Amino acid sequence: MSEPKSTKWPWTYFEISEFENPWIVKKSNKRTLIDREIRCAVLDNEIGEKCDWKTTDSKRQASTSKMIDHLRKQHSIDSPDKPEEPKRAEYSIFPDPNSIGSTILLMWIPLKQSNF
Ligand SMILES: [Zn+2]
Repeated sequence: MSEPKSTKWPWTYFEISEFENPWIVKKSNKRTLIDREIRCAVLDNEIGEKCDWKTTDSKRQASTSKMIDHLRKQHSIDSPDKPEEPKRAEYSIFPDPNSIGSTILLMWIPLKQSNF
């Protein structure tokens, strides 16, 4: 139950039920007695029923990539906070990147010289 923060978001779209099924965690080679069924709970717009896609902890081996893949392909659902685009926050802190850029350059030159 210690998923990294970035892969937490898919879980809100799934229903989890535990059942007894001994399996081996490949990464740590540890035996786990309880397996979990992870069933997609997204409603299908066309038929108004829950999507029946499912996986288990033993199948996915603690990886959320298959779950994310399913959400993206079948439901066009993607991560609410994309970690691939961290630049956006910088621009809101510095509204004028041109003036900041020259300030950093002026500070950086003497710093580089002192290293020699
Ligand atoms: Zn689904």
